[in-house]
Amino acid sequence: MSSPPLPNAAYTPVQLHVTKLVNNLSVVVEPHPTYNNLDFVFTCGSIASLTVDEIKDHLEEDNVTDIYRFTRKSNGKSVLKNSYVVTTQGVKIPEYIHIGMKRIKTRVYYPRPKCANCGGAHSVFDSSCPCTSNKLN
Ligand SMILES: [Zn+2]
Repeated sequence: MSSPPLPNAAYTPVQLHVTKLVNNLSVVVEPHPTYNNLDFVFTCGSIASLTVDEIKDHLEEDNVTDIYRFTRKSNGKSVLKNSYVVTTQGVKIPEYIHIGMKRIKTRVYYPRPKCANCGGAHSVFDSSCPCTSNKLN
């Protein structure tokens, strides 16, 4: 059995023009500086020689604020992967991005849960966790 729909008032967004609360206290309502940030992922092997800053220059028109390139561990060394997380300002991720002549499909970024031991972007059981390798040594 489904529950009855909520009244429309439940969906009314915060009014950005509010300047006074009911108790006459003055307030300034602004868009949240980080709530409008979106992360997305793309993978492209043919731009592997570009630095993250060079890629950022190509994506200037997409309001990109940050790019992170994934790495993996190989024989104890950090090796760059061909996947990137892009932080952009907006309400919708672009379907494609353009780097030079390349048209690259984007996808939604699902961040990995943080490690409870070190706060890193891996699971507690991940062998790349510095806490895990310390225990083994
Ligand atoms: Zn860890």
